[in-house]
Amino acid sequence: MSARLLDGKGVAKAIREEVKRGVSELVARGVTPGLAAILVGENPASEIYVRNKTRASEEAGIHSETLRLAADTTPGVLAETIDALNRREDIDAILLQLPLPSHLDSGEFIPRIDPDKDVDGFHPVNVGRLVQNDPGPRPCTPAGIIELLRREKIEIKGARASVIGRSNIVGKPMALLLLHEHATVTICHSRTRELAKVASEGDILVAAMGSPGFVRGDFIKPGATVIDVGINRVEERDAVIDYFGEDESRLAQLETKGYTLVGDVHPREAQKVAGALTPVPGGVGPLTIAMLLDNTMRLARRRRLSS
Ligand code: NAD
Repeated sequence: MSARLLDGKGVAKAIREEVKRGVSELVARGVTPGLAAILVGENPASEIYVRNKTRASEEAGIHSETLRLAADTTPGVLAETIDALNRREDIDAILLQLPLPSHLDSGEFIPRIDPDKDVDGFHPVNVGRLVQNDPGPRPCTPAGIIELLRREKIEIKGARASVIGRSNIVGKPMALLLLHEHATVTICHSRTRELAKVASEGDILVAAMGSPGFVRGDFIKPGATVIDVGINRVEERDAVIDYFGEDESRLAQLETKGYTLVGDVHPREAQKVAGALTPVPGGVGPLTIAMLLDNTMRLARRRRLSS
């Protein structure tokens, strides 16, 4: 058996087109949605994420700006920056790029963002809305995965779902969203006993633990849908061959870039057992950005047109 590849990129493109149309309607009514990203310090990965997010926003017709703060920014200055964005009428969505430098505690600053401008859905009020299944912005990565499953016609209702990882950003909201779609959900984590056995009970398996190629063939129920959230760099040729076999394009990438990307799922083994699988890259990553745009548009619509 060879798993069907789920087209995260294609679904993300469709969502972005829908957002673009939604934004045009808002603009016609005098509302240009505005997204502000706050980037503290100089983390190269965060720089790339923020650049991709702002570029995609502009393509969708969303006004987008990035506020860059120095790595040694004081808690007071970061708090003032958030407060100023909370007050701005033209900004509907605030994105605080994580991780913050170690002297700044994200747990102090996320709750400072106006919950109705919280584009990532991380504010405790929005976590409460998620738990209660009330309307509100949902964390982008798990929300994108639900959209992918829906649009790829993978039945969630009644399915057994295993989620590996229990972070506030991916694992926990993923489990709740699957639960609200009527899956029977098991959350696995670093202390789970017999992890492979528990994971392999899932008709849907979501891997989000941040460990390259960790999910092997025996974690996967034959025919299951496997969603690979991980993004990890592989720099050794032997490891690339282990994950991808003698895949010319991966080896060429290793030569030119010095690395290729692998998820948290072992792709070669998963291909043989799973029924459907998200590729890395081109699976979950593009969906995360698409849902950020979708959240921005919805926040603008709700805040500026609902009264
Ligand atoms: P995290 O480090 O905050 O959480 C990892 C979770 O995995 C923890 O709950 C931990 O208990 C669990 N875990 C770690 N090692 C484990 C093990 N050996 N066995 C079982 N469970 C284990 O990470 P995160 O922010 O949730 O991100 C997870 C992965 O997803 C990372 O690779 C990250 O880069 C990626 N990610 C991708 C996107 C995207 O858009 N594609 C978005 C967010 C995160």
